[in-house]
Amino acid sequence: MSTIEENIRSIRSRMAAAAEKAGRDPGDILLVGASKMNDAAACQAAIQAGIDALGENRVQEMTAKLQEHAYDGAPLHFIGHLQRNKVRQVVGVVSLIQSAGSWELLEEIERQAEKKDLTQEVLLEVNIGGEESKSGFAPQDLYEAAEKARDLSHIRVRGLMTIPPVEQVPHGNLPYFVEVSRLYVDISRKLYDNSFAYLSMGMSDDFEDAIAAGATMVRVGSAIFGRRHYQ
Ligand SMILES: *Cc1c(COP(=O)(O)O)cnc(C)c1O
Repeated sequence: MSTIEENIRSIRSRMAAAAEKAGRDPGDILLVGASKMNDAAACQAAIQAGIDALGENRVQEMTAKLQEHAYDGAPLHFIGHLQRNKVRQVVGVVSLIQSAGSWELLEEIERQAEKKDLTQEVLLEVNIGGEESKSGFAPQDLYEAAEKARDLSHIRVRGLMTIPPVEQVPHGNLPYFVEVSRLYVDISRKLYDNSFAYLSMGMSDDFEDAIAAGATMVRVGSAIFGRRHYQ
């Protein structure tokens, strides 16, 4: 068994344990591999091992890896900060843009999706920690954005995504996860006929807490692919 396959098995069993502890069905939680800085072979190993989707952060890297058929056999998501001038290269190429974090970005996604005559599924990104360095809607702006987004006819909002602040203490992000989960349930019920499906939160160090709080999708990178080596 490859290391990637072993890692995925072990994460799946930890996900299942966390789900059961929370009285949830493990089958309701998707595992997305955050594959940035990992090559096409690593992506294919994760797909062979049954990952539910892969998520990329950078448009240039994603485009290059698409050429190498890195994602053949699994859905592809965009999970990184998206610049407006790169939206065209992402719309219709990925099945889900998880990081729709501003009104300007939503409008550009709408424009490009209309041009391509398709409907793009997105998640609204919430900047739950209120950090300057992070993109995403402020929690107090989220409801209005979700309401206005219903009028964008080439976008379908499927849920929320969040990246909380870097954890300072064990379980430090649990309150953020609980807060985003509350927003998710509220907005889905009041604005979207309970049709939301994806609450994307939790990474290598905290996916169990995210599951305890209600995540239906976790994004795991280093615990699957090993530590990334930044230049
Ligand atoms: C890199 C990344 C992850 C995964 O982070 P790990 O700590 O390596 O699991 C999840 N979500 C986003 C948006 C990322 O950029």
